Formats: sequence, structure tokens, C-alpha cells
Amino acid sequence: MQGSRGASNNPSFSCSSAPPLLRASFAMPSAYHNREMPELPDIVVYVERVAARVVRRVLQRVRVASPFLLRTVTPSLAEAEGRTVREVRRLGKRIVLCLEGDLFLVIHLMIAGRLHWRVCGAQVPKKLGLAAFDFPEGTLLLTEASPKKRASLHVVRGDADLAALGRGGLEVLDADLASFRAALTRENHTLKRALTDPSLFSGIGNAYSDEILHRARLSPLALSQRVAEDEVQRLYCAARETLSEWLERLRREAGDGFPEKVTAFRSGMSVHGRYGQACPDCGAPVQRIVYAENEANYCARCQTGGRLLADRALSRLLKGDWPRTLEELEDRRGR
Ligand SMILES: [Zn+2]
Repeated sequence: MQGSRGASNNPSFSCSSAPPLLRASFAMPSAYHNREMPELPDIVVYVERVAARVVRRVLQRVRVASPFLLRTVTPSLAEAEGRTVREVRRLGKRIVLCLEGDLFLVIHLMIAGRLHWRVCGAQVPKKLGLAAFDFPEGTLLLTEASPKKRASLHVVRGDADLAALGRGGLEVLDADLASFRAALTRENHTLKRALTDPSLFSGIGNAYSDEILHRARLSPLALSQRVAEDEVQRLYCAARETLSEWLERLRREAGDGFPEKVTAFRSGMSVHGRYGQACPDCGAPVQRIVYAENEANYCARCQTGGRLLADRALSRLLKGDWPRTLEELEDRRGR
């Protein structure tokens, strides 16, 4: 698919044929992005920057400050101490320190977990600190800026136990079109839900799914088993281009340093976190669908032929019986 650049500019999705938009209310950019996890590009950059500092170094000590962090009993953390790091890997949205002796430390940042590189033996910050991993040349700090301590650390031995922590989703950047199509159409979901399902696709969450769908000019609520072949191809290209472009961008931003501004929302995104602001491609205001604890952002003119999709806030006004989640919405559409 190397030659398929520009797929997002497919002329059949020309803005000129779109019906006029309903008047959209403008609002501040949403706070929903504060509840989102770092996704593939951010995790990959973490992996690379951590690897540059710890591979072939001995993990001397692990200091755990939060009783909620460690989710496994055996092997013990003490077994990890004194071992050399062979490799640092990504497993879905998790970061894996692979140690000699087939031991793995698996870190899930969840929403507010972050990594920092500090001087040797740096103190674990009182409120936010979860753990410190001490190496000869510095300390990898794990913090979580949230009263809900959801970040986790698993210690496992062997490839099988490591794989069991994975969700099995396809790595889009390594996948060909056929395997992408197979994953996409395995179940009949909305495209938004399919892209963010970790058992179908690895490392994609709310932010990059918005960006991918916008680039592909596809509705977040289109059903995955009903999209046409050219749409599957557009989605495939859009997913790969979006993820690789953002990865390059975040790599450039981090340089040789350690990424300190990790967030699910980034200025420069087209629609994600930009409700009410102008779509960079057509100028129409970015729309949203609010569901459960989340929201999807999209451009009606670029993605849905100008149609506004059902929204819980709108439905409250209408006192209608609207679905609250994408899952409910899918169920209703299926009936
Ligand atoms: Zn647009």
C-alpha cells in the first residue's frame, strides 16, 4: 500500500456535495481527553527512550511506593533485581522491560500513569509516585497523577505468561491489507468501536481512532461488516499514515530526551479534542458524540455527508430514548 498516499482525498468524498450543516454549538475543547490513555505513538516513544537508557544495564533495585501497583505475587519483584535488561518492548498499550532469565516487568500506565528519567536514587514523589526502578546511570520513575490508582505492574516469567497479558489485537503498522480487513470484519461493530477494541487492533484508543476515521473520511458509526472494499482500503491507509506520522512527530519532539508531555490530546490533531473548532480540511465545526465516559469527535462534512450523529446531550434535550453507549447504539441498529 506504499503507493496509496492521498487515499483520504478520494474525490467521491468531496465536500461540495455535502448538504448544509445544522448549526453547531461551539464549546471549549472537551475535558474528556483527560480521561484517555496514551496510545501507540506515545507508548512507542516511551519504549524507545527507556530502551536507550536501560538496555544492557542492570536493574539494581525496585522501590514500590503504592500498595495498589503490583498485581502479581510470583515471581517476586526481588527476583528481578540484579538482572540485566535485554530489551524494552510494547505489548498493546503496555511497556515491557525484558530481563535476563526470561523475566518480564510489564507496566500499564492506564490513563494518568507516566514515566520519568531522573538521577540515580531519585526520591519517589509523595503523592504521585508509584515506583522507582534504579539503574547505575539513573532512575526510571513511575508516577500517576490521579487519586484513582489504576496503573499496574505485573512480574511474569516466560513468553507464554507475557503473551497472556496481551489482548491479541493486530499491529496495524506491521499488517498487510488482508489481515487488517480480517480483523476489522471479524465482528460487526461500529468503526469507532472496532478500531479501539484491543482484541482487534493493538494500541489504538479514543484519540487516534478519531484521527484515523477523519483521515479515512468515514463515519465513526459505520458498521465494520458493511463498509465497502474501497472504504476498508482507505481505513487501512489512514490508520497506517496517522499512526506513523504521529510517531515520527513525537520522536522528533522527544529527540534524545525523555518524553515529558505525554497526553492523549495533541494540538495539531484534526478532530480529536477539537469539538466546535474548524475542521482543518473543510472548515466545518467539529462535532461530537458523547457516550458513557467518553466522546468521539468527527467532522460531519468530511465524514458523514453532513449528518449529525446521535448525541446524548442532544437526546436529553429531546427527552428521547437515545442510547448511552456505542454498544447500545449498535444493538439498536442491529434490531
Ligand atoms: Zn471537515
